[in-house]
Amino acid sequence: MNCQENPHLIHAYCDGELDPMRCLEVEQHLRICAACAQQYRALQGLRTTLRQEGLYHPAPADLRQQIRDSLEHCPPAPASTPAARPRFSSLFAFAAGIAAAFAILFAGQFMNQGSATDPLLAELTAGHVRSLMAGHLMDVPSSNQHTVKPWFEGKLDFSPPVKDLAASGYPLTGGRLDYLDGRPVAALAYQCRKHVINLFLWPATGAAKGEPIATQDYHGYHVLSWNQDGMTCHAVSDLNTGDLTTFARAFQKE
Ligand SMILES: [Zn+2]
Repeated sequence: MNCQENPHLIHAYCDGELDPMRCLEVEQHLRICAACAQQYRALQGLRTTLRQEGLYHPAPADLRQQIRDSLEHCPPAPASTPAARPRFSSLFAFAAGIAAAFAILFAGQFMNQGSATDPLLAELTAGHVRSLMAGHLMDVPSSNQHTVKPWFEGKLDFSPPVKDLAASGYPLTGGRLDYLDGRPVAALAYQCRKHVINLFLWPATGAAKGEPIATQDYHGYHVLSWNQDGMTCHAVSDLNTGDLTTFARAFQKE
């Protein structure tokens, strides 16, 4: 398997679309290719996330009734196609199948672009989206950096810099633990108007100091990355790039 030539095989593998030979090839490849293995884990994580409560909504009763009513007026299916007989249960199963297909398609689309080149970008964005689900944004909800910083003690093998940027228009709203790039990381939540900014931090590997801010876009989200004080920093938000850059500069300066 050549993942450079065929980056979508991982998605097909996740969706169970491959024949046994291809499956075996991908499984063998996942053991030796760290990038694909990481992409696979991120994809699995996103799929799990999409199945969680808060993202799954049963159809309201009146919508069910509307579908039932519209089916009453359906012309009977031709006798030659037994699979198309309009039984309510099978039609609902079909509708559920379509919904599931859309969810998986969404997951696939979501992971496809950046992950082929940079799995971390997909992981960061998935981490941001996961945090936006009810009750997932903060383990320690506080605007006080002196409350948030000690909370991380004993939970991580490093001490993340925690700064309240309320004076610059980016109030700190809390912090939590996340798992990215194969390690536990600190996530700080900031607010800018109605937008949430997630700032992910963990110790930088190698001698990276004071690097300029790199901007990447991923499915409508902006990811700004830089290094400072021995930390690698990634800010993720749907906030416009200009305001997000101002946020990053404010965090660098504080
Ligand atoms: Zn690979």
